Amino acid sequence: MIEIEGTYFDGHSSTPHRSRLIYDGSGTFTIRAPDGDRTAPVTDVLISDRLANAPRVLRLTDGSCFETRDNDSVDRLLLDSGRSRWPARGVHLLESRWRYVLLVAILTIGVVWFWIERGIPALADHVAKALPASTSAALGDQSMKVLDEILFTASELPQQTQSRMRARFRDMVATLRSPFNYRLEFRQGNAIGANALALPSGLIVMTDELVRLSEHDEELLAILAHEIGHVEHRHSLRMILQNSAVALVIASVTGDIFSITATAATVPTILIQTKFSREFETEADRFSRDYMHRHGIPLERFVTILRRLHDQSGPQSTTLDFLSTHPHVKDRIQLFEKN
Ligand SMILES: [Zn+2]
Repeated sequence: MIEIEGTYFDGHSSTPHRSRLIYDGSGTFTIRAPDGDRTAPVTDVLISDRLANAPRVLRLTDGSCFETRDNDSVDRLLLDSGRSRWPARGVHLLESRWRYVLLVAILTIGVVWFWIERGIPALADHVAKALPASTSAALGDQSMKVLDEILFTASELPQQTQSRMRARFRDMVATLRSPFNYRLEFRQGNAIGANALALPSGLIVMTDELVRLSEHDEELLAILAHEIGHVEHRHSLRMILQNSAVALVIASVTGDIFSITATAATVPTILIQTKFSREFETEADRFSRDYMHRHGIPLERFVTILRRLHDQSGPQSTTLDFLSTHPHVKDRIQLFEKN
């Protein structure tokens, strides 16, 4: 015998009546209503699903209904009357609705994937272009301090070489009419060897190893033009924003707030560890090619230094820019040989 305390509504007025539902195991239950007992077969009544602690509603065919918070007794009623094999807890909900659960899960994954894959880069691109150049400057200076602490050591190149390259670099950027404050710095690359990278501020770092590897200044100009391309297209800033946005989405799902608050502090790490996308690299290569073309620098300078870099670095790859992710070397060379 199952007895459930609850509220009865007669279906005509909204007046609640304290009532009791009784089930004796016969397949028919009785509700003690003020206007007399109502009996109905359990199979004829509509019983709402169990959802947390929300009251359950048992709706009869004549429009009257019985409402109760005694979920456990309703589950027993369902079980006893053979309407359900499972107690209507989460298991039952899942068992009877797994197709919908699966569909919703797939849709959710799809929406999140689309947002990460397309939405965030588009938004990051938009935001990066809308932000004033001073934002990039702040990010760049902070990052350089960290890079100097953890990666670089002072350049050992002769002052004369540094001055000569800086003068050529100044000539390059003078033609750009850019909002960025371009500067060229030399450092010993140590772990990253022959390499170059651009910070969002317009600060470009070239390693001693790269300068030593070059056989002509124009080879270095080709690489500098590639790095300038990254700055002009705001690639670092876009990447940082994309990374923060991903952290934002992940945090909104997992509730992990630490990944967001640390964003500003992790900028240097993002710059070091995250590789530019293929698309960004190709964009920077195009910028370099166009620059070289306009300034009468033979395009093979880019190809020769790239080949030399590739040959000396071998299969092990660095994470920083110039040889990092890059589209396949053959594809890159092709871009410079097409013209
Ligand atoms: Zn690059």
